[in-house]
Amino acid sequence: MYPAFTEELVIRPTDPRLEPIAEKVVAGVRLDVEDGVALFESHDLLAIGAMADWANRRKNGDRIFFVANQHINPTNVCILRNTCVFCSFARMPKEEGAYTMSVEEAIAEGDIIKDTPIREFHIVGGLHPKLRLEYYEELIRGLKARHPGVEIKALTAVEIANLARIEKTTYADVLSRLKAAGLDTMPGGGAEVFSRGVRATIAERKLAAEEWLEVHRVAHGLGIRTNCTMLYGHVETYRDRVEHLAMLRELQDETGGFLTYIPLAYHPDNNELGERLGRTGTATTGVDDLKNLAVGRLFLDNFDHIKTHWIMNTPKVSQVALHFGVDDLEGTVVREKIYHEAGAHTPQGLTFQEIIRIIKDAGKRPVERDAHYRELREW
Ligand code: SF4
Repeated sequence: MYPAFTEELVIRPTDPRLEPIAEKVVAGVRLDVEDGVALFESHDLLAIGAMADWANRRKNGDRIFFVANQHINPTNVCILRNTCVFCSFARMPKEEGAYTMSVEEAIAEGDIIKDTPIREFHIVGGLHPKLRLEYYEELIRGLKARHPGVEIKALTAVEIANLARIEKTTYADVLSRLKAAGLDTMPGGGAEVFSRGVRATIAERKLAAEEWLEVHRVAHGLGIRTNCTMLYGHVETYRDRVEHLAMLRELQDETGGFLTYIPLAYHPDNNELGERLGRTGTATTGVDDLKNLAVGRLFLDNFDHIKTHWIMNTPKVSQVALHFGVDDLEGTVVREKIYHEAGAHTPQGLTFQEIIRIIKDAGKRPVERDAHYRELREW
């Protein structure tokens, strides 16, 4: 709780369904699924944003966190290439554009940035049929040795489960070995939307919701904090979204291991789902992006942080989101591949100066953080 927050929540909703929700927010009463659906259905964006902003400032004050980070994607080869129909990144092993870095090449990626001290490597990739756990242990160890003090946020729950399958071992064993190699935290990808129906349509062979949650439960039990996500803006309903949030909130009640929630906007270019839906360019709208962030803040009352992924939401919408319940602007990123393959028109990275300007122009305080949200420096 941010100290001495005594501000009153003053809103004049044009949608009467928001009044009881605002009362719950102020009283600290948890929202239920019907409240979440009502928020998504409502067109009173400014009242929703004001509630989320108030709820966020009660927790985080005017601080906006960001991290000097770099993404590394060691391979785009993925055994689910033909069944995750929303994905534009994956390739079959012999398909044009397929790549797999050697451990040395992946470690060398970490040397790209020379002028800003990197605090976090974010490492995710495809489910390669042949890369063993050893590859990732060596990669993490190598990066740690070359960049002492840099934290490693690596491998989604889906990648962990794939490694457990390849090694014929348990999630706990995979995670313990990666932790021993230097894994600090885990990203939240692969959650998509937990609804069975939606998963059957967009990612029929991907790890089931219960297993995705189980990997995170095991990680939390081993002291590995993780992030979580939801991929929205395709075939899911508002109720699917809220039920997804409810499952994340339930696990957070149980373990307290999630660091942040990141709603991810679906991008339709160069993937089968985009063709099926007849969409190109931007699939989600600015209003939907802001609503997803704000509802995340209001519904996930047991989460400290809500992050806008500026690569998908654009730096401009992300800046506005800083007044819609968001307290984390991601980071420098440096070289983003996954969403650019899907048609993201944003830059591949932002400089420190650009991030600080975005935050300060929004009237907020930029706070550089590490992967665990420890405050490193206020700018
Ligand atoms: S979303 Fe992930 S698991 Fe699915 S095809 Fe793409 S890289 Fe593979």
